[in-house]
Amino acid sequence: MHELAITQNILDIAINEAKAAQASQITKIRLIIGELSGVVGECIQFYFDFLKKDSIAQNASIDFETVPAELHCRDCQTSFKLEDSSWACPCCRSTNLEITNGQSCFIESIEVE
Ligand SMILES: [Zn+2]
Repeated sequence: MHELAITQNILDIAINEAKAAQASQITKIRLIIGELSGVVGECIQFYFDFLKKDSIAQNASIDFETVPAELHCRDCQTSFKLEDSSWACPCCRSTNLEITNGQSCFIESIEVE
């Protein structure tokens, strides 16, 4: 994934939300980064500091929370978190799995003034 495009997208969403709320500035953006999303928080931070200049987010900080991958076994219907990278069901060792969480990167909340 391309962090620059993702960061631009996050910033655009945050600015639109802030404007909709008639806020004068954004103070904090909280992001959820899925373990399997391929997004690197440090890269987002780097681009964010660059892109936020001269916008209503120029004083905003960005926080990240990484959510673990969650999988669902199609054979025994167990849901579990991916704790090692074996990609097998802990109950029946099946590899017939579906990813149910941890693939996306999105804004959890925006604080504005
Ligand atoms: Zn299973």
